[in-house]
Amino acid sequence: MSSIQTIIVSGGTHGNELTGIKLLEKWSKHPELYTNRCPTAHVELVHTNIAASRLCRRYADQDLNRSFSETLLSFVGDPENYEMRRAKELNAKFGPKGPKTRTDLILDVHNTEAKMGFCLIISAHDPFTMRASAELVHEFPDTHIYYQPEERSMSPYFGTLAKADICLEVGPQSHGTIHADLFEQAERIVIRYLELAQEWNRGLLQQKKKKSVDVYTQYKDIDYPRDEAGEINAMIHPYWQDRDYSALNPGDPLFRTFDGESLPYKGTRKVWPIFINEAAYYEKKIAMSLTLKTREEW
Ligand SMILES: [Zn+2]
Repeated sequence: MSSIQTIIVSGGTHGNELTGIKLLEKWSKHPELYTNRCPTAHVELVHTNIAASRLCRRYADQDLNRSFSETLLSFVGDPENYEMRRAKELNAKFGPKGPKTRTDLILDVHNTEAKMGFCLIISAHDPFTMRASAELVHEFPDTHIYYQPEERSMSPYFGTLAKADICLEVGPQSHGTIHADLFEQAERIVIRYLELAQEWNRGLLQQKKKKSVDVYTQYKDIDYPRDEAGEINAMIHPYWQDRDYSALNPGDPLFRTFDGESLPYKGTRKVWPIFINEAAYYEKKIAMSLTLKTREEW
């Protein structure tokens, strides 16, 4: 991206993830907190899933953050389905998804119950989001980069309405609750992204030396072990609870049955799990996402 003209800071894409919702409430009352961070761009606050936020639930009818693939956006669908309607509204106002979108950058704030700290999720090999995220990893503790190489037109996330996006996952925090320390650092990270967008528009960030960072690239999601009826019959192994970003080798214990038997990881290559035991992913049949870790200059 050569210059960043329009930026959306969004929250409440999942209605029970309070860090982003409270950040928007705070900033909409005090616009001076964000408006002068990137004066070369128009910065807009967007509360994405208003109905789910009122319910303090992830979604009302379907997961809004799985509703933005080109296929779903062009699908006529059920007009009674709130998120399907809302996704089309957001696409009409801030997209349309694809090369003609009117939004350059989306910073979408989420929470996870997994112990992932501050996870900067990047979904495109975009020079600004890569460069800025590498700076942030060196500025803030407990910050990691997670790259999702999924084809952008088929990616279902709200952020993919823009040319580039960062999904900031903040955790561990139980859904429907809020932690002060996580809120404060998340706010500082979003402010830094805005400041770095300003540096980018002035050509300064491009001149800084690239930084060496660990990049966790999506490899595959895995489900819990299940019985013939499809019920979960093992839990995350106690070793793995709260060990996101640690190395998992083939044969290592990964799950534990209710009888206390350890079940090994059956994969054939070393991986680095994240989103371990995320509450919202039980319904998606995801026990964790496996990533591959590389050291890169960004
Ligand atoms: Zn979320």
